[in-house]
Amino acid sequence: MNKVIIFSAPSGSGKTTVVNHLISTMPNLGFSVSATTRKPRESEVHGREYYFLEREDFEKRVRNNEFLEYEEVYSGIFYGTLNSEIERLWSLGKTVIFDVDVIGGLNIKKKFGDQALAIFLRPPGIDVLMERLRKRSTEVEHQLQMRVEKAQYELRFENRYDKVLINDRLEETLARAEEIVREFIGQKP
Ligand code: ADP
Ligand code: 5GP
Repeated sequence: MNKVIIFSAPSGSGKTTVVNHLISTMPNLGFSVSATTRKPRESEVHGREYYFLEREDFEKRVRNNEFLEYEEVYSGIFYGTLNSEIERLWSLGKTVIFDVDVIGGLNIKKKFGDQALAIFLRPPGIDVLMERLRKRSTEVEHQLQMRVEKAQYELRFENRYDKVLINDRLEETLARAEEIVREFIGQKP
């Protein structure tokens, strides 16, 4: 059975950190590269972190039903998973791993049911989240505020997830994430 693993959490909770760790230690996982209309950050590469699309291109693909799910995650900024991306990874024999926002994660879980494991990564608190986002220094202050407001809303959905993982001490989080994922895909360490 083709499987998918969903990591969702408010921005700054540590999804990218955890997902990158899992991908580097488990070669049978394939990262689902989302499409977005956001501009690339300095270190980001088209096709690696995201497929960076112009708004018109994104909208055209929406009209053509090319997306498994998509959302206006932040005002005026769209993110979505292309069906072709899942097919690409499955055809390589990979278990697909997603880093998506909380509503997107629930939508994907709804589509895949038992084929999917949905994991909610929670920061120990809003203050810690804010501090981590500030330290990451990828957003200007008003975007930071926007992300924290959205985080407060998203934290309400954790009980709809299969597993909740609190990201306090990173080493422990990474070890636990690995354990949960190996159990789901039936792979021994
Ligand atoms: P997300 O992908 O959910 O937005 P990131 O993985 O980018 O989150 O993490 C946000 C910031 O917090 C990054 O700078 C990351 O290095 C840092 N971080 C992640 N987990 C921890 C942790 N357990 N303790 C301290 N800092 C962390
Ligand atoms: P960032 O701009 O920091 O890369 O990501 C912003 C948010 O968009 C994150 O919470 C990330 O998980 C989410 N995101 C990324 N790709 C997708 C996607 O394909 N669908 C949805 N719904 N959210 C996504």
